[in-house]
Amino acid sequence: MADQASSSRNTMMDDLTDMARSVMGGASQPKGLADLMVHALKDIYYAEKKIYKALPKMIRAAHDPQLQQLLTQHRDETGQQIEIIEQVFEQMGKRPQAERCDAMDGILEEGDHLLSEFGGTQAGDAAIIFSAQAVEHYEITRYGSIHAYATALGQTEVAQMIGQILAQEKAADEKLTALAESRVNAAAA
Ligand code: ZN
Ligand code: FE
Ligand code: FE
Ligand code: FE
Repeated sequence: MADQASSSRNTMMDDLTDMARSVMGGASQPKGLADLMVHALKDIYYAEKKIYKALPKMIRAAHDPQLQQLLTQHRDETGQQIEIIEQVFEQMGKRPQAERCDAMDGILEEGDHLLSEFGGTQAGDAAIIFSAQAVEHYEITRYGSIHAYATALGQTEVAQMIGQILAQEKAADEKLTALAESRVNAAAA
């Protein structure tokens, strides 16, 4: 594909521009919404990869078969989301790059502590949902912003790809709420 070569050339040029900018100092080159969007993509790319690795432990700890199934399905979706984000980077002429997300590190670390405190107890599944919903809500804020940036920048295709992920996160969150309120909370009470 002719586009392949030009896209990797663009990526190289971007990297050179980034290097030039950091040599010149950030202040001389004001950053815009496109830069913020790339930053947000790097952040959520890191977060998704970390969530993908963290989910199996939560799945194993889940007692309710429907909770297990829901988390397993969402892990598959998470794998697809990682690929979509990589396509978004490529669409923007960037190579996929992760940047540490302190928020997701904290949310998952907290989830781990909760699991050691409540795992195996009557409130174990409620605690797993409690943690999983914190993850989903973080994702919803990030994808909501990225979707709005892509729209503002006229990047229709990217907005559509991010919108698809956003819908999956919202659906996962709603399913967790329904499960908690239908029986998991009552079982833990
Ligand atoms: Zn960041
Ligand atoms: Fe996700
Ligand atoms: Fe973050
Ligand atoms: Fe999610």
